[in-house]
Amino acid sequence: MTSFDAIVIGGGHNGLVAAATLAKAGRKVLVLEAGSEVGGAARTEEFAPGFRVSSVAHLLNRLHPDVVKTLDLERHGLQFARADFLPSVALSKDGPALMLHGAYGEVLTGTSSSEQSAWKDLRAQLLRYAGMLKPFLSRRPPDLAAMSLLETAGLGQTALALKKLGKEDMRDFLRVLLMNVADLLDEQLEDDRLKGLLAFDATLGSHLGSRSPASLLGLYYRLAGETGGAAGAQVLPQGGMGAVVAAIRSAAEKAGVTIRTSVAVARIIVEKGRAVGVALETGEELRARTIVSAISPATTFLDLVGPREIDTGFVRKMKNIRMKGDAAKLHLALDRPPQFTGADAAAHNGRLVIAPSPDHVERAFNPSKYGEFSPEPVMEITLPSLADPSHAPDGACVLSAVVQYAPYALKEGWAAGKPKFLEAIMAQLEAYAPGIGESVVHAELLTPADIEARYRMPGGHWHHGELQADQMLISRPVSGWSGYDTPLEGLFLAGAGSHPGGGVSGAPGLNAARRIIAMKG
Ligand SMILES: Cc1cc2nc3c(=O)[nH]c(=O)nc-3n(C[C@H](O)[C@H](O)[C@H](O)COP(=O)(O)OP(=O)(O)OC[C@H]3O[C@@H](n4cnc5c(N)ncnc54)[C@H](O)[C@@H]3O)c2cc1C
Repeated sequence: MTSFDAIVIGGGHNGLVAAATLAKAGRKVLVLEAGSEVGGAARTEEFAPGFRVSSVAHLLNRLHPDVVKTLDLERHGLQFARADFLPSVALSKDGPALMLHGAYGEVLTGTSSSEQSAWKDLRAQLLRYAGMLKPFLSRRPPDLAAMSLLETAGLGQTALALKKLGKEDMRDFLRVLLMNVADLLDEQLEDDRLKGLLAFDATLGSHLGSRSPASLLGLYYRLAGETGGAAGAQVLPQGGMGAVVAAIRSAAEKAGVTIRTSVAVARIIVEKGRAVGVALETGEELRARTIVSAISPATTFLDLVGPREIDTGFVRKMKNIRMKGDAAKLHLALDRPPQFTGADAAAHNGRLVIAPSPDHVERAFNPSKYGEFSPEPVMEITLPSLADPSHAPDGACVLSAVVQYAPYALKEGWAAGKPKFLEAIMAQLEAYAPGIGESVVHAELLTPADIEARYRMPGGHWHHGELQADQMLISRPVSGWSGYDTPLEGLFLAGAGSHPGGGVSGAPGLNAARRIIAMKG
């Protein structure tokens, strides 16, 4: 029987990135994936006969450049040009759409020249400030109690970058850091469509409204990501998210990684305070010097390790991670492309956002605090089949939408609530694309509870745990354990629940692998 140096639990994109990086550094690595396919929440699947879609994540906007480089993903078929950058479109029910072109609005159209000039200034400022976060994405958060020389140097660089901003900017950076996004937008912009789009982006994937404290951080997080070398750029990969994962898988297999699918890990075997192997649901046991868990931290410790193996303080912290998802996914098989009001052909090929103002985003958020959904949900829509015919039969069209706010724990239960939520979403779509309802051949709505059940994402949460100020950086996944290693020797975390969080970035997987290599694990 083959023996392995490292076993990776979970073949989501982060698990594959960690596995490939370790294998490239000479480790013999086995990936164990519970699903029948790798990719986790980044896959392309058929949802109706002849209709395919990126089944959870649908837009690529933060695959980390170090991941692309380390795994040589361009050689594995993943390449993006400027022409692939998708515009963002703020839809309006009764007027022309506003559009951000290029990499997050290098050019703004559909609004006044004074708004264009205000946006130019704000965009530059947002990118400058988001740039401060960038270096943190590709390294472990500093261990404040025992900083290594390298970590001290890293922090020193950040302090220097802060200083380089200049006095005025530095003061402003610190002033706005924990602001809510709506207040900042009201300070600097006039056009509600633009403000609504930015408020939507700041809160996407988290349990925050536009007026929640520190909601601006979400926008910085987004703009700290890049695609094709451009901050804030987004693309719809040809072949969907499954194609991105196929490139990562190909790099992993080329480096010698063994991948087993349809094998769920039931338990992490612990002996004398050290993780030494895993037991599968079938009862099979596998041993390795290093165990890498690329699934949620809470599931790792509360279910696979079990509270008896860890101290009660750590268990309590794990139990307190907030991770109830708010984002649902809608897939429509349409017999023809929809026509959104005020949007031209280029806009239909972009990312279409229904979030008419920051106040609308806040009002849509409010019911979710009490386990209810908004009658007028906000959403981000793509029509992937327009540019990539592999998604739908000739003449037909696929609509893929991330819809907020859909509370994981709906008060009335999703069995009763789901048809009503679908009705609310369709009414909203009808208002922006009259006639769309008549063209629906099939609709699939995945609530956070469905996403949890189908993709083993606890809470159906975008980041495997809220990405808010108190669950970020040195507090991610929990304070005291933010650097991928854990209280159990030989066990490491590598998924979205770890720093720097979720999205298809590969950064947690890469950082974790680098940590393991540095520790000679
Ligand atoms: C509705 C929604 C829309 C989103 N849209 C976007 C988007 O457009 N762009 C973007 O960048 N991000 C998006 N995201 C976020 C993104 O999908 C996730 O952050 C990302 O996929 C997390 O990757 P991961 O590899 O860490 O974990 P996952 O993708 O969750 O993978 C974990 C893997 O582990 C496996 N697993 C779990 N338990 C076990 C076990 N016991 N044994 C073996 N295997 C196990 C699972 O089957 C899964 O394959 C979205 C998220 C949601 C919920």
